[in-house]
Amino acid sequence: MTSRRQWLGAALGFGLSGSVRGSSVLETLSHTEPCMGTLFTVRAVHPEEDEGYTAIAAAFRRMRAIDAALSDYCDDSELNELCRTGHARPFVASDDLFRVLRASLSLAQSTGGAFDVTLGPLVRQWRAARMEGRLPDEKAIESARARTGWQGVALDASKRTVKLPREGMQLDFGGVAKGYAADEALTELRRHGVTAALVAAGGDIAVSAPPPGQRAWHVAIEAGAAGVRPSVLLASQAVSTSGNLHQFAEIGGVRYSHILDPETGLGLTRPITVSVVASTAMASDSTATALSVMGLSHSQEWLRQHPAVQARIVSKGQDGTADVWQTPGFPLAPHANVHR
Ligand code: AMP
Ligand code: MG
Repeated sequence: MTSRRQWLGAALGFGLSGSVRGSSVLETLSHTEPCMGTLFTVRAVHPEEDEGYTAIAAAFRRMRAIDAALSDYCDDSELNELCRTGHARPFVASDDLFRVLRASLSLAQSTGGAFDVTLGPLVRQWRAARMEGRLPDEKAIESARARTGWQGVALDASKRTVKLPREGMQLDFGGVAKGYAADEALTELRRHGVTAALVAAGGDIAVSAPPPGQRAWHVAIEAGAAGVRPSVLLASQAVSTSGNLHQFAEIGGVRYSHILDPETGLGLTRPITVSVVASTAMASDSTATALSVMGLSHSQEWLRQHPAVQARIVSKGQDGTADVWQTPGFPLAPHANVHR
């Protein structure tokens, strides 16, 4: 831990200042470092600097361990071991892998495959295509698609095993692992006595109890449209934003997202930004990705059936104007009182 007292939350848009309880000043300690291809920040309220940073270091260790297990980039990750051997015989998974896969398959089920962690072969192909600035041809898409399919993945919770339906499958937790890591970092902080903390795993942000004397954490979210940057009020919740605002490629004059449309095997082309508030960051992360794929009207239908999940969806019409829609319970802060 080299960089102490980094108030990077301001840059990332977290509103908080030190709080006073009795005579001891509760400091908000903060540390940022790269993880999972983006920047992760942990902010923890703790009266003792050394103990606070020990807790933050443990949270980062936990997130790096999750990355090492669930990464599809790293050849010797547990995930890639499952992909290599899981079609031949049931693979005994770690608790982390099993929990993330089980939640992902459940979301695939409820979204009709809009969220699909078995799209790995198509995601990899699409990643290469974006880099090269050309669309993959139909044959290549179909051959990658032949190695996908969430319906055939068999889980046995009693033995914690996973069986893959075919050879050459590649699972990809890019749309869910950051959220899971944020949740687990909060758990690790709690284990170290930190009850008021915020973990930002890129755009996936989980918070525990608010700092003493405050009712909520103020967290700025991507606006998705021109105007004041909105923020949400969170306590023991999480928020994630997905869409094609930042990560996109332009090929042949068309803007494609890094999020894949399972129907086409290509990136989404519909301009959309989705922010989701849920009880865990694993849920907000994966659901924000799923709703981006589903578009406004299917998302509205899904949200009606899942009233515990709140969402704000900014979509652009034919004429280019932004349409903002949100669930009635979306916890938008009344004022934009967040540091930027
Ligand atoms: P996010 O930034 O959380 O929306 O997740 C995007 C990442 O999820 C991509 O970079 C892929 O690794 C993965 N992904 C892309 N499309 C899908 C999809 N339809 N379902 C599940 N994961 C996806
Ligand atoms: Mg996501």
